[in-house]
Amino acid sequence: MDHKNAQFATKAVHAGQHGDPVTGALLSPMFMTSTYVWTPEKMERYQNGDKEGIFTYGRSRNPTQNELQDKIAALYDAPACLVTASGMAAISLAILSFVHPGDHIISCKTIYGGTFGLFSKIFKEMKIEVTFLQNLSEESLNKALRPNTKLIYGESMYNPTLEIADLRLIAGWAKAKGIKSMIDNTFCSPYLLNPFDFGIDVVVESDTKYINGHGDLIAGSICGPFAFVDNVRGSIYQELGPVPSPFSCWLILRGLKTLHLRMKAQCENAMAVAQWLEGHSKIEKVIYPGLESHPQHELATGIFGGRGYGAMVSFVVEGGLEGAQNLINHLKLAKYAVSLGDLDTMVQQPATQTHGKMSREERMSMGIDDGMVRLSIGAEDARDIIADLEQGLNA
Ligand code: PLP
Repeated sequence: MDHKNAQFATKAVHAGQHGDPVTGALLSPMFMTSTYVWTPEKMERYQNGDKEGIFTYGRSRNPTQNELQDKIAALYDAPACLVTASGMAAISLAILSFVHPGDHIISCKTIYGGTFGLFSKIFKEMKIEVTFLQNLSEESLNKALRPNTKLIYGESMYNPTLEIADLRLIAGWAKAKGIKSMIDNTFCSPYLLNPFDFGIDVVVESDTKYINGHGDLIAGSICGPFAFVDNVRGSIYQELGPVPSPFSCWLILRGLKTLHLRMKAQCENAMAVAQWLEGHSKIEKVIYPGLESHPQHELATGIFGGRGYGAMVSFVVEGGLEGAQNLINHLKLAKYAVSLGDLDTMVQQPATQTHGKMSREERMSMGIDDGMVRLSIGAEDARDIIADLEQGLNA
């Protein structure tokens, strides 16, 4: 079956899966090998430029990695995908493949802390300048634009304030100015949102999160036009060497088969938790795109197409830093850990963890209150997650 026209769930289960013609195995074997044996015929084909299906060395490509790339590309309806050893590797490789010293980037201000560090420290040392914009508008973008601007970068859903990026504005503006747009889609995954539908050029993602979903590996991916992805591979990927293990690729292939089921369940749980929190007297504010109180609720309903509103819930508990810490310390089911997108519910405190290096003023200006708590809602029963929060708030 041609998976190109199949529905999302069918692609999640079948796309990229070739099985094994030798044994007839339904599922593809994992190719745990670092190198591949040459034959005179293979060498002749290779030297003639016919590289289709030819594997040489594990740092350049691996059959298991290829299958995963085909599956992720299918889920995004993207021409090409390259899988990397981490989400940070995907972000840095995708950018450094075409942004060079002397170039300029415009970035949304609310981005993942690791990416903020990459932009504000490493890129600064490399003489790549980044302008961070708190509020994106045509006016602010025009003001930030320079002759050497090469890229506009952002995340589809902001962390931890759960604002939804205006992808139409970003893509339309970038196209009009002839610069590239790149979106980190980690918080949404292709199940909820496909940035290519809005005209975004390149999508990067931490596959560590929803894409794999089981919390047992680190990986990332870059999706985009064939020429772009091929250039990443040819210009920088093999030289810097952040290839994922075939084992990680195999596990992600397995994890992706249930992306639609996991995310549906986790989004439903998140909605139930958000609604419950909204009615609790010790909670000052709940931030969840599925609530009518979220300023972008209508936008979220439109762009997520009824599939849910994500599985991240942020809220502000009374008592500031101490109140949030006290709640987190008393939670039993929700684990105090800095990741997201797993089957296990996890909790963290942005003011002391992901955004702990910022000044209080800077944090507050981004809408990150002292008492903010961020939940990554898992696939447990929502009643148990709520019972855990209730006992934590009562403690
Ligand atoms: N992008 C976002 C939005 C993230 O939350 C993270 C990690 O938490 C990353 C990128 C980095 O991904 P990784 O940890 O796989 O390198």
